[in-house]
Amino acid sequence: MYCQRCMLLFDGEDKCPECGKTDKLGQPRDEDLCFLMEEDAMWGDMLSDVFQQNGISFTWKQPREGWMSSIFGASFDKRLFYVAYSDLEKARSLAESLLHAQPVPDDAEPGPEA
Ligand SMILES: [Zn+2]
Repeated sequence: MYCQRCMLLFDGEDKCPECGKTDKLGQPRDEDLCFLMEEDAMWGDMLSDVFQQNGISFTWKQPREGWMSSIFGASFDKRLFYVAYSDLEKARSLAESLLHAQPVPDDAEPGPEA
């Protein structure tokens, strides 16, 4: 089911795990934006680039002002990514391949030559 209030896609039929309400639930339409993931600003920029290059319909928001920054400091910048339902699977695999490609250990040594 899909909660229009939270823009969240979830398993199950009864109520939204985020807001606990049922009045905005329904089947997602292709253009509905669904919460994908939360990333910090550095990864967020890379994700935005990858999504743009692949024609993904997406948007991102910052969490509520002052929420994280009061705990971790003002430089701790988070982005919440939302992707159109029709692009969700594609976006998810793009994000996974991007995130799993990192980090590259910079002290990796070439294997011994046989
Ligand atoms: Zn909700």
